[in-house]
Amino acid sequence: MTTVQRIHNFSAGPAVLPLSVLEEIQRDLLALPGAGMSILEISHRSKTFEAILAQAEADIRSLAGIPANYKVLFLQGGASLQFSMVPMNLLTPGATADYIDGGSWADKAVKEAKKIGNVNVAASTKSENYSRIPTQAELKLTPGAAYVHMTSNNTIEGTEYTDLPAVGDVPLVSDTSSDMFSHPIDVSRHALIYSGAQKNMGPAGVTVVIVREDMLARSLEKKSTLPTMLNYAVHAENGSMYNTPPAFAVYAVGLVMKWLLAQGGLPAIAKVNERKAAKLYAEIDRTGFYRGTARKDCRSLMNLTFRLATEDLEKQFIKESTAAGLDGLKGHRSVGGMRASIYNAFPEAGVDALVAFMREFERTHG
Ligand SMILES: *Cc1c(COP(=O)(O)O)cnc(C)c1O
Repeated sequence: MTTVQRIHNFSAGPAVLPLSVLEEIQRDLLALPGAGMSILEISHRSKTFEAILAQAEADIRSLAGIPANYKVLFLQGGASLQFSMVPMNLLTPGATADYIDGGSWADKAVKEAKKIGNVNVAASTKSENYSRIPTQAELKLTPGAAYVHMTSNNTIEGTEYTDLPAVGDVPLVSDTSSDMFSHPIDVSRHALIYSGAQKNMGPAGVTVVIVREDMLARSLEKKSTLPTMLNYAVHAENGSMYNTPPAFAVYAVGLVMKWLLAQGGLPAIAKVNERKAAKLYAEIDRTGFYRGTARKDCRSLMNLTFRLATEDLEKQFIKESTAAGLDGLKGHRSVGGMRASIYNAFPEAGVDALVAFMREFERTHG
């Protein structure tokens, strides 16, 4: 056996996966148990793959307590395609969609929706560099809007919702790409949830969409004009098998869901995530040498953003941390500084290693 050297991967996405999941993939890569062939080779119409997809869906349902009147879809095109699919399916003719602009990904969603129909930006914190989530009081919601779109965790800026916005009877749509399944989620308060898998749920290549069945009526109404592949109702009717699904990604998501269940489910992983983030924020706040960029009451537990006094010092930090086996800490170019992404699968030992590194860096450069 070769010894594999794994380093601490703080990447925002694709991101770290549980080691036990990678080992299971490796063990079964040449032949799935009982199938005699690889997940990379098997027909999506086979009983084996049907069972894999059904189990992944069942585990997603049980983890999040998804009510029976919601469909779980496995789609392609990333969360970015959802920026288009959501308005194409849900923005009814003549109606307006409200968007809460709390980060760079929300801004991209707004830009795509505007190509499809009427959009009202209900609130934006862009002028504050998205350093906080818009408050309830700031929301200028459209009465009878087709839906309200929000981003539950702003991956780039490091802010996260703690309480869902109140939107009355208007369907709430949430991009949960970077905090999906990091804590319990009240699915019943949403009409549609979408999440690119490659942050917290699995590898790149699949997007999980959870959609309330009544929303599918809107897709059906547009059936003759909407491209088939972009129609939620088509994917729902066909159990995500209208065409070839991303079989490997679905399989890997299924393994991550099994791992999550074994950790004790969402309440248990939420506790771990709170503990990990608290350790790191405590170090960021300890002396003032580091400076958190997100407002304290909006801080993300998944993506922790912080800066140093000068850009030169930040360059030095990235250089030395990378050399110390702490990879992927460079902040997004639009924010600068540092970003530590510590998703579900990121080990607590890696957080401890970063805290120790930060302490030492401050001692030698402070
Ligand atoms: C990463 C990310 C996206 C884009 O995801 P893709 O799968 O690359 O299209 C969208 N929204 C949020 C919140 C993200 O973190």
